[in-house]
Amino acid sequence: MDYDIIIIGAGPGGIFSAYELMKLKPGLKVAVFEAGNELSRRKCPIDGVKIKSCIKCKTCAIMSGFGGAGAFSDGKYNITNDFGGTLYEHIGRAKALELMHYVDEINVSHGGAGTKLYSTAGTHYKKLCLQNKLKLLEASVRHLGTDINYVVLENIYNELKDKVEFHFNEPAEHVEALDEGYRIHFKDHTKDCRDCIISVGRSGSRWMEKICKELNIPTNSNRVDIGVRVELDADVFSHLTDELYESKIVYRTEKFEDNVRTFCMNPHGIVVNENTNGIVTVNGHSYEGADKQTRNTNFALLVSKHFSEPFHDSNNYGESIARLSNMLGGGVIVQRFGDLIRGRRSNEKRIEESTVRPTLSATPGDLSLVLPKRILDGIIEMIYALDKIAPGTANDDTLLYGVEVKFYNMEVQIDQDLESCHKGLYIIGDGSGVTHSLSHASASGVHVARVICG
Ligand SMILES: Cc1cc2nc3c(=O)[nH]c(=O)nc-3n(C[C@H](O)[C@H](O)[C@H](O)COP(=O)(O)OP(=O)(O)OC[C@H]3O[C@@H](n4cnc5c(N)ncnc54)[C@H](O)[C@@H]3O)c2cc1C
Repeated sequence: MDYDIIIIGAGPGGIFSAYELMKLKPGLKVAVFEAGNELSRRKCPIDGVKIKSCIKCKTCAIMSGFGGAGAFSDGKYNITNDFGGTLYEHIGRAKALELMHYVDEINVSHGGAGTKLYSTAGTHYKKLCLQNKLKLLEASVRHLGTDINYVVLENIYNELKDKVEFHFNEPAEHVEALDEGYRIHFKDHTKDCRDCIISVGRSGSRWMEKICKELNIPTNSNRVDIGVRVELDADVFSHLTDELYESKIVYRTEKFEDNVRTFCMNPHGIVVNENTNGIVTVNGHSYEGADKQTRNTNFALLVSKHFSEPFHDSNNYGESIARLSNMLGGGVIVQRFGDLIRGRRSNEKRIEESTVRPTLSATPGDLSLVLPKRILDGIIEMIYALDKIAPGTANDDTLLYGVEVKFYNMEVQIDQDLESCHKGLYIIGDGSGVTHSLSHASASGVHVARVICG
């Protein structure tokens, strides 16, 4: 065996597996193979001047490399079983929460000290939401911010780099089950290990599907979330964001009885492009440091779609809608809420005259030509519902960027140890379809390391 354990993917899942393995059994020979760059070399070429939009790099610096998709994220670390994944279905609610708290402590001790932990416990907004047909989900959230999140990752990397072998720009191509252990195939070499932890995140979803087929690992079909990113004056939501930072609110639409939910709220943040498998969608960031903050707040409004017979490929459905927006707008489309309601496209002039200054340079257009009516109607209903608890949300100048798509990996069948049907082959993090967040993915990494160390 070349290694006791090979970890594929250096996102939060892989990093916290490595961290815990080194803590519990420093003598283990562990290697991490990552498709992207090390942290310091992760650079998105978009500079807003020479390169204004996504040029579709071979590996996306935002999604890949040490820190995974979470590296430049807002670092909102949600401690909850209410959203962010279904890890608790495998390891139990109490254990899942305990592990999320444990990872939070590690983050705090590696540069996150001084960041604030917000909580929905005891907030009067819960009642206000209920009175307006909205449901506020319960959570504690530590807001590290993109800047501190980076420092935490840097510190963890510095602590691990002499104990664990890191190999960057080394995507795993195949996983071969041996009589004992696994052989991992790379472009021009192979490495053998006793146990293998796969933590390839969303960017590795296609690869994960292929591996499951090759190794006959059962999977279940997935869901896709489709919607828009809303950007408005930060004052409109400040009463909520000052107390809760992020409020996860769910609204059940009157017309279709679909659930629409807020997602990834970024007070004083910026709207950004995201490239998944060459398709440009929208996302948001915010910073803890005051110097980088903007006058706007952004959040996503998303509707989940599950499909039943005969269609199973939810991600392809989401991709097709995103592709449509890319076709019409050359990337992400932006539209004023007032223009959407009046049935007209936004143009440069109306965006320019708008009171909300866009933080992302996107193409003014018409989202009703992109989003299915059912989804768009739900989003419009929710904007009016939110307007009751945060007056101003339904202002004409509120900006909607589309499309935002949250792709989920198909759910891989894993047991309570997060082990697949192959002994010693563990599948964790977002790549397993079980987690969808920094906290759940990190916790899954710690869990599997503890299982391996017995
Ligand atoms: C812009 C953005 C903002 C976000 N903000 C938040 C937030 O505030 N809070 C929150 O909870 N979550 C947030 N998320 C989601 C969060 O980042 C993910 O849930 C989390 O990173 C999942 O961790 P992971 O380790 O499972 O996968 P990932 O972080 O996706 O890491 C997987 C790694 O595996 C590598 N990889 C893939 N395939 C291979 C292969 N074949 N061989 C080798 N390596 C491979 C990838 O390059 C990647 O680095 C955000 C995501 C994005 C994109």
